[in-house]
This record gives sequence, structure tokens and C-alpha cells, in this order.
Amino acid sequence: MTLLKHDAAADGASERVAVVTGSSRGIGRAIACELARAGMDVCVNCASQASVSAAEETAAFLRDAYGVRAIALAANVADACEAKSLIDGAREALGRVDVLVNNAGITRDALVMRMGEDDFDAVIATNLKGAFNCCKAASSYMMKQRFGRMICMGSVVGLAGNAGQANYAASKAGLVGLAKSLAKELAGRNITVNVVAPGFIETDMTGALSESQQAAIRDRIAAKRYGTPEEVASLVGFLASDQAGYITGQVVGIDGGMAL
Ligand code: NAP
Repeated sequence: MTLLKHDAAADGASERVAVVTGSSRGIGRAIACELARAGMDVCVNCASQASVSAAEETAAFLRDAYGVRAIALAANVADACEAKSLIDGAREALGRVDVLVNNAGITRDALVMRMGEDDFDAVIATNLKGAFNCCKAASSYMMKQRFGRMICMGSVVGLAGNAGQANYAASKAGLVGLAKSLAKELAGRNITVNVVAPGFIETDMTGALSESQQAAIRDRIAAKRYGTPEEVASLVGFLASDQAGYITGQVVGIDGGMAL
């Protein structure tokens, strides 16, 4: 884990501290902005060196635009030690860990008969084990605080499956079992654990699809459009709030009617 910035510039600590994995861009960045807009201090995260400046820029934006404390920590959540260092680093710099958003995710698409073992393992390691690693590290702090909100970024394909995405769909389906089990383990400590299941959202991940693929997908969405990162962030913001304390172990879809 690399400490990118530790100048948690602020006029004073906010009441809630959030860690958002994979928040250098896309949905994660929008979530970081939404939580900061709600007054939370935020730890931004990315994995690759190439994304370090984007993570730093996001943290700087949160400080400037919302007046919260924000830091950026590089850590590969698939690695248990790095994930623990991320959570511990956020706690050390910002004082608490109240909200954990397991947003970091990757795809390595191929039909099963052509899918390499490495591609299966890499997707499970980041999308599913990464969430386990971060939840495990954060749960000890949240249990002591007797407060916590964990939100895992699932997907419609984790519920319905998708040809060419067996690894990705399995990782997202696995998050549902992880979240429901953790919800039962932690509910007595005022900690909620939920899954958000977006359909197709406009980000770099979906931007990699060809125009014809994107048009075919749009046709399957009742709303006839992709969602925006901000729309997903707004849902996550509510699940992360104090008001959402009686919602746990749920999978909340946000897909423009795609799964109907
Ligand atoms: P994205 O634009 O590709 O951004 C992914 C983010 O995750 C980046 O910040 C990336 O940082 C980070 N990341 C990747 N591997 C990581 C690791 N091992 N450790 C820490 N950070 C890591 O993705 P997105 O489209 O915003 O998607 C965000 C989440 O929503 C994912 O879990 C995805 O599966 C889910 N989702 C997306 C859609 C969609 O339509 N876009 C739909 C349903 C669900 P680096 O650049 O450093 O790797």
C-alpha cells in the first residue's frame, strides 16, 4: 500500500468516515463525491500506479468542493495485507471507519470454453475476495464503534448470469452470499451490509464495449438508456446514511427496468 496524500486538510473532522474502494474514476468516484457531499470524510482508493494521479485529484476535489477531509491510498484489495493496510490507513488518518463501499471491480470476459484460469481467478480475487478482505478489516473497527455501513457493488449479471461473463457473474453472485451472511453476523452491532446491483452504467468499463454491443444492451433496458454513476451514487449514499439502519442483507437493483 502506498500513501498518496496525507494532508487531510480540514477545518475539523466530520462525524462519519467512508472508505470507497476503486474510487479514482467511474462509479466509485461518483460515490466518493456523494458521500463527501453528505459531509463524510473520505478515503479514496485505486490499485494501479497509472490511476494514482486520478485518485489524488479526486481526493483534492472532495476537499475543495465539500470542505471534508479526504485522502487517497493506493492498495490492491485482492491482497489481504494491502486491504488491511487500506482500512487501517484510513482509520489512522481520519479517526474512524463508518462506511465501507466495496466498489473495486474488474472484468475479463470470455466464453467459459475459452476462459483462462487466470482470468477466472483474477476477477474472483478482486471482485469477491477483495470485498471479503476489506469487510474483514473494517468489521473490527465497526464492531467497536457499534456502527457501520457496508455496501458491496454487485451487478444485474450476478443475479441473471451473462454469456461471456461467467467469472464476473460468479463474483457478483458471491457478493450476495457474503453480504447476507455478514448482515446476520453484524446486525446486532448496528452494522448493515447490503448489495447494490446496477444494470449498465456509463463508465470506462462499459465504454470498452463496441457501439453495436452498447446499442443491443440499450434495447434490453426498459428505460432505453444507460444509468449514470451519479444515479448509483445516490442510492449508495442513502444506504450509507444513518437513516438506512433497518435495511440489511438486501440486494437493491438499479437498472432502468432491465431485470424486469
Ligand atoms: P471502472 O471505471 O473500470 O473503475 C474501476 C475502479 O476500480 C478503478 O478505480 C480501479 O482502479 C479500481 N480497481 C480495480 N481493481 C482494483 C483492485 N484490485 N484494488 C483496488 N482498486 C481496484 O469501473 P466502474 O464501471 O466504475 O465499476 C465500478 C464497480 O461497479 C465495479 O465493481 C463494477 O463491477 C460495478 N458495476 C459496473 C457496472 C457498469 O455498467 N459500469 C454495472 C454493474 C456493476 P485502477 O485503475 O487502479 O485499477
